[in-house]
Amino acid sequence: MSENKNNNKNCPDCDREMTQIRLIDKVAHGVQHRPFEYALRDAKPGKWTDRFPIKGRIAGMMCDECGRVMLYAELAEK
Ligand SMILES: [Zn+2]
Repeated sequence: MSENKNNNKNCPDCDREMTQIRLIDKVAHGVQHRPFEYALRDAKPGKWTDRFPIKGRIAGMMCDECGRVMLYAELAEK
């Protein structure tokens, strides 16, 4: 049996391998698309930048059978 090197998970409903999808965060006043990111719940906007400190990105997995989408934080390297 070949080892599955990617991080794909199986759908809990269909038990099919889920495929990675790209989550798009549309920027309201611009044409940019940015990947989903997340900050900690108690994060405060930065003093200078007025932005939340980004902890990491959110990766999405979708089941192409039932359409279930699951979200995973891409854990930052330590
Ligand atoms: Zn499914």
